[in-house]
Amino acid sequence: MTPVLDCLVIGGGPAGLTAAIYLGRFRRSVLSVDKGWSRAKWITLSHNLPGFPEGISGPDLLARMREQARRYGATLEHGTVEGLRRDADGLFLAKVGETEVAARTVLLAAGVVENNPPLPHVAEAVKSGLIRTCPICDGYEAIGKSIAVLGNGEHAAAEALFIRTFSEQVTLLMPASGDGGLSSATRAALLAADIATLPVVVGSVALDTSGVIAVGVADGITHRFDRVYSAFGIVPQSMLAVAAGAQVDATTRLFVDGHQETSIRGLFAAGDLVRGLNQIAVADGEAAIAATAIHNRLDRVLAHSTEPLSAAVPAQVPGVPRVKTLGVTPLGPFDRIEPDAATVIGT
Ligand SMILES: Cc1cc2nc3c(=O)[nH]c(=O)nc-3n(C[C@H](O)[C@H](O)[C@H](O)COP(=O)(O)OP(=O)(O)OC[C@H]3O[C@@H](n4cnc5c(N)ncnc54)[C@H](O)[C@@H]3O)c2cc1C
Repeated sequence: MTPVLDCLVIGGGPAGLTAAIYLGRFRRSVLSVDKGWSRAKWITLSHNLPGFPEGISGPDLLARMREQARRYGATLEHGTVEGLRRDADGLFLAKVGETEVAARTVLLAAGVVENNPPLPHVAEAVKSGLIRTCPICDGYEAIGKSIAVLGNGEHAAAEALFIRTFSEQVTLLMPASGDGGLSSATRAALLAADIATLPVVVGSVALDTSGVIAVGVADGITHRFDRVYSAFGIVPQSMLAVAAGAQVDATTRLFVDGHQETSIRGLFAAGDLVRGLNQIAVADGEAAIAATAIHNRLDRVLAHSTEPLSAAVPAQVPGVPRVKTLGVTPLGPFDRIEPDAATVIGT
């Protein structure tokens, strides 16, 4: 078995990498294991990330964050954590291929997986911007455009109503038969907002380079839109925590307290898989909170010299004070927030 880590970070998207940067700068031993399917990889150009007025692509952002994490000594590895358990001493043991990784704390930052619409060439369509998934991210760029929202039920209707603040031409395309799973109150809200609802067969929705074409089942007419927002929902990747006994809500998103700690002591979570807004800025913020709580939870190490550390601290960081483990008793538990009153950051 490898030496015991201060923290194992599961995931290497914005949340996992922010935690790796913070923990590296706290001079904790931290390993991020990542499968490599960050949703940020799908971002052609993000315009809502603070600090990047000209926008930044997801792959560029991830590359910069990886460089920053490595600069402060974090280890980043490609791999999949297949199982997570605790031993009798309270250490977390994670199965990564044939290896077992031991860690005092774990940050789960495994994100969510998008339920893509069953349309051909979805990946290309998302990259070219024909299919969108996140109106909070890029609704601004849709101002005045003709927009279709493809999906069923209250979730899709809520998305259509949200997008209506950017454009007066919004149509809800509902693949379901019957009433599309909408309540009468929602139908009234859609009507009041002048949002058309149209039953479609998903197979009738086609994409070409200039737009989205859909044949309405009810009216038999071919409709053309500038873009379509897919509203098929997401699957939070909370399985490892659930298997370890952590509490989740009805959509399997993890409950956390004000320090991003799950209902399992020492197991923290940050980013899209936590209840909240699926946004990079939120993932970064949650990871910063979690990393600082983890640092405070672990044994304190006190600096006692200004000589640079040669082994434990990477050469790129000059003048970092030497540290010494004092074996101080870990801090007591933080004030806990009960799961049903857990932090809800957004919708
Ligand atoms: C098309 C698109 C456009 C977007 N545009 C924007 C935007 O403009 N602005 C914005 O703020 N947000 C945007 N987002 C959302 C943003 O990408 C996410 O909020 C962000 O990536 C969440 O970060 P995360 O670290 O929580 O999860 P992710 O970035 O998804 O990273 C999770 C990582 O964990 C890995 N993982 C999962 N399970 C395991 C395991 N068992 N072992 C090892 N690794 C594992 C995954 O493979 C993945 O690499 C967009 C999303 C999409 C899809």
